[in-house]
Amino acid sequence: MVDVCGTKPLVFRLHEGAPELVRQVLLERGWEEFEGQQQDEGDWNLYWRASAFRSSDYENIMPWQRLNHHPKTVGITRKDWLARNLRRMRGTFGSVLYNFSPTAFHLPNDYVRFLEEFSKHRLANGGKGAYWICKPVDLSRGRGIFIFEDIKDLAYDCPVIVQRYISNPLLISGYKFDLRIYVCVKSFSPLTIYIYQEGLVRFATEKFNLGTLNNLYSHLTNTSINKFGPFYSTDKEHIGQGSKWTLSKFRCFLRNMGINELVFWQKINNIITLTLLTIAPSLPSSPNCVELFGFDILIDENLKPWLLEVNYSPALSLDCSADVTVKKGLLNDLIDLLNYKEIDGLRQRGYLRQKYRTPCYLGSQIPQAKTPVVFLLPKSLCEPCCREKCQSQSCVCCRGGPPAESRGTAQQSPHHSSENLNCALRLALGSSLKPATSYRRRKTRFLHSQRPKPLDRSKALNLESESENGSCATTPDMLRESSKKKAGSSVKLPPIHGHKYKSTMYPWDDQVQNNTVPPCRVGDFILTFPFNEVTLKASQKKLNIKVAVQEVHKLTSQLLSSRGHKGKRRKEESNNTFGGEDKLESLFWGPRNPLSLSECFFKT
Ligand code: ADP
Repeated sequence: MVDVCGTKPLVFRLHEGAPELVRQVLLERGWEEFEGQQQDEGDWNLYWRASAFRSSDYENIMPWQRLNHHPKTVGITRKDWLARNLRRMRGTFGSVLYNFSPTAFHLPNDYVRFLEEFSKHRLANGGKGAYWICKPVDLSRGRGIFIFEDIKDLAYDCPVIVQRYISNPLLISGYKFDLRIYVCVKSFSPLTIYIYQEGLVRFATEKFNLGTLNNLYSHLTNTSINKFGPFYSTDKEHIGQGSKWTLSKFRCFLRNMGINELVFWQKINNIITLTLLTIAPSLPSSPNCVELFGFDILIDENLKPWLLEVNYSPALSLDCSADVTVKKGLLNDLIDLLNYKEIDGLRQRGYLRQKYRTPCYLGSQIPQAKTPVVFLLPKSLCEPCCREKCQSQSCVCCRGGPPAESRGTAQQSPHHSSENLNCALRLALGSSLKPATSYRRRKTRFLHSQRPKPLDRSKALNLESESENGSCATTPDMLRESSKKKAGSSVKLPPIHGHKYKSTMYPWDDQVQNNTVPPCRVGDFILTFPFNEVTLKASQKKLNIKVAVQEVHKLTSQLLSSRGHKGKRRKEESNNTFGGEDKLESLFWGPRNPLSLSECFFKT
């Protein structure tokens, strides 16, 4: 739909299997759904898929488009890769920090190593072994999982991960639970992590009992499993009906237990940062991707959090009231985090350049009568040439419909007169002018043979840099060069390829363009990395992973040691990295009303 001002709403594209909630939230926000049959191939702003994108989706992306997955995150989202990557990081940075994932073996490859570990436990415990959990590497939602103690119970017919089973979980009223923490990686380069304040606590629906290892309702916390259990709808002591709490409710539980919240949340925060650091340096730069991960964290009775897995497409279905509270807000805040303007000027001008340029200044190329016709000029351009002279109802400039002339040959149209050539060129090259009104959508396919040559990098950046602020970056040279183009050519915006855009700037992000820092809070998303000046610097250009890991370690140590040293720390405040000289006034993720990092040192 095109409104009276000639502006088009933002458009989302959903792949089969994408969550219905995404559609609902975006429609509520005034977005329009992409319709493949009626819309131009690239005429969308956000493409959401539950599964992975093809590499061509990344290669052909336009500056105004965003995808909901970064490429190559499988390094943490597949169970076997996650285990391997964390082992590698433990080897490099030591087990003081990288100690949050239960020991895991990839079978059949690691079978011998697993047997050694298995026997070691048996010997150490006087013949009684540890508990293990076996999970198919390729499955999710609890499918194919079982727990065993005796090696004769280990049977598998596909690659699996066998992991130490955390047999002493923290229980609430006797029920096991885990935390689903939502994490948005806005960018891997520079690494920019936001953690959501709300989240879910997912309970098993039968009391934890090591005597019944094959009772999945007692040992697994997946809702997909538990909703088929006999006690799912029963009102369970303190837990209530169903199998979920919000993280807010869990915070109350922590407070009632007298638990040191800051240290607790910081440990989870560390798990998330350190896990993402394992893949961040190896990922291609893809500035127009964003990713929402679901981190599953299990807490043991010593309050130590363990990472169970990282979900690639965390479930966004609404099974209960906790889901509604958490997931709708989550998606709304995620869209806010993407920093869309109400209207995507970049996309609109992109289309003006692609679709309207040829007919705009080369009338002979305009499609004839019965082929779909697009109106060429934005209203602002019409004003001098048309609006005052022609208030006719038949004129698109005046009423938003097609001009009578455009149904015939374009040469006759006043809009294609030579006095508009300059305007058309400005339009083609990206000006601050208002977008054109098209009265009918047209499926436009850009076949390779018809594709114009991409602009060179400097011009590409120029075109992009005028994206949101509306200033016209056209230079006389560009105009000259453009006016020389042959009939039938048009300007295609350059695709954003990782290797082309090594720059640490996002084309649409004013803040980063101004070389300032990412916002420390967007809705309930809290920026957790970078979290100080040092990590900000370490994340720019090429990620300095060593410095990043050291800073995480330092922050945690400061937080732990600040207890009992409050007076001393006040004096040191101005000198440390979290003091007043920081450009980045980071917030501490976790508590209901997040404090700034510097405040946290006085609150523990
Ligand atoms: P899936 O991708 O199939 O959900 P997970 O690794 O998340 O696989 O495991 C499913 C559930 O099994 C978890 O939610 C948790 O309740 C339980 N679980 C998984 N690994 C462990 C473990 N090492 N110790 C204790 N419980 C575990």
